[in-house]
Amino acid sequence: MAYDFDLLVIGAGSGGVRCARVAAGYGARVAVVESRHWGGTCVNLGCVPKKLMVQASEFGDMVTDSHGFGWNTTPGTHDWPTLIAAKDREITRLNGIYVSMLEKAGVTLLTGHARFVDGHTLRIEPSELAPSATPHTVTAERIVIATGSTPFKPDFTGVELAITSDEAFHLPQRPQRVVLMGSGYIGVEFAGIFAGLGSRVDLVYRRDLPLRGFDEDMRTALSEAIAVRGITQHRHTNPVKLERDGADLVLALDDGKSLRADCVFLATGRRPKIDNLGLENTQVVTVENGRIQVDEGSETAHAGIYAIGDVTDRINLTPVAIAEGHTLADRLFGTAPPRQWCYATTPKAVFFSPPVASVGLTETEAAQNGTVDIYIARFTPMRHTLGGRRDRKTVMKLVVDQASQKVVGVHILGDDAPEMLQAVAVAVTAGLTKADFDRTIGIHPTSAEELVTMRTRTRETLKTG
Ligand code: NDP
Repeated sequence: MAYDFDLLVIGAGSGGVRCARVAAGYGARVAVVESRHWGGTCVNLGCVPKKLMVQASEFGDMVTDSHGFGWNTTPGTHDWPTLIAAKDREITRLNGIYVSMLEKAGVTLLTGHARFVDGHTLRIEPSELAPSATPHTVTAERIVIATGSTPFKPDFTGVELAITSDEAFHLPQRPQRVVLMGSGYIGVEFAGIFAGLGSRVDLVYRRDLPLRGFDEDMRTALSEAIAVRGITQHRHTNPVKLERDGADLVLALDDGKSLRADCVFLATGRRPKIDNLGLENTQVVTVENGRIQVDEGSETAHAGIYAIGDVTDRINLTPVAIAEGHTLADRLFGTAPPRQWCYATTPKAVFFSPPVASVGLTETEAAQNGTVDIYIARFTPMRHTLGGRRDRKTVMKLVVDQASQKVVGVHILGDDAPEMLQAVAVAVTAGLTKADFDRTIGIHPTSAEELVTMRTRTRETLKTG
């Protein structure tokens, strides 16, 4: 049978766009169908606007800190609508870049909501991006589902009054009092954004420390840094009821407290986006939380249908979705062996101020494999000495497998941590040892030089596994 395309990609987010472009580069006839935003979550409602807002939130402190360096500056006021408009202009520019990259690669762009009719046929229906599209069908030999994820809202009374990150990027005014629920990436990052811009922030979470899954020392250091930023943390707490009281929202918690706010923001995780995809017309299998099950080659249970990125709920990070999309296109259409990536050393960063960044194993994870040597440095970065924020610490940690002396984990909380960590991730991916770090000359004066000057072991942690 002759299909319209060799490959049809559903979703023009980070993973889908990379897959489509690389496949088209190999000469395949490729189409990508997008229902909402060119560039997907990362560009429109995630990484990019978030980082711009984090940067916006840091100028206030910088102005104050400049006094210690002799500047006679006066802290000003922040205009939220100006920030949102500037951010939107940048996002519109990036949307255009995504479209032109796809067009230049020879990819056919389709707009609308795609729904499986069968394993080779999609019906394209009107959607947010194409409200007046005429419904039609397209066929392809292979189809990639790259539909991403969507915010998850827990079930409690009044939850509909709360917003998620989807709405946070377009609030008409900055709320003066914000309650953030959840202490994962989004909760921590938006707590920092709103606090930096002058809002009163309450961070509500159900554990003893924020950022489950990160190294315990980093979680502790982050919790301290959150307190230093003036954010109130409510630990071991869950929401019971949200209601309106005049202009206020009132959130009742299960510890008996209630919090008044202008905005209650749920940052309680994301779920694979599979709604109305017509998966019932295929053999694609979904498992817990709607995750599409795939094999190592990103192929679903339906031969010829693949899934990449957040919809598979593996490592839900933009660069991983890009890697998955690239490898899939290599494998389906390339002539050389597909690119290999080291997912085990995927670096990650949480853009609080100061940010946290990590690569490799936590101390607890590493100790399951063998006894580990732990090196920790804690100091006040130079700019905060004259700047006057001596309580704004940097914490660095090396986790070293004692038997091999390989550095198996690096964790940093501090200014520029993600920038440092990206380079260190190469060393950890390469399997370098503590001796390799030790024989590397530092750059002085930097925070990063601590990574190569940690001479004295802080402690030994015995094998637990
Ligand atoms: P996370 O999974 O990171 O965190 C979710 C938070 O919500 C946790 O604190 C979790 O608690 C809590 N939670 C979950 N369910 C409930 C519930 N029913 N009641 C109360 N609390 C609950 O999700 P995010 O929404 O922060 O981010 C989604 C994903 O997006 C991230 O995991 C990451 O993959 C990606 N992302 C990456 C960023 C980056 O790279 N910088 C930035 C933003 C997002 P508990 O820990 O107890 O489960």
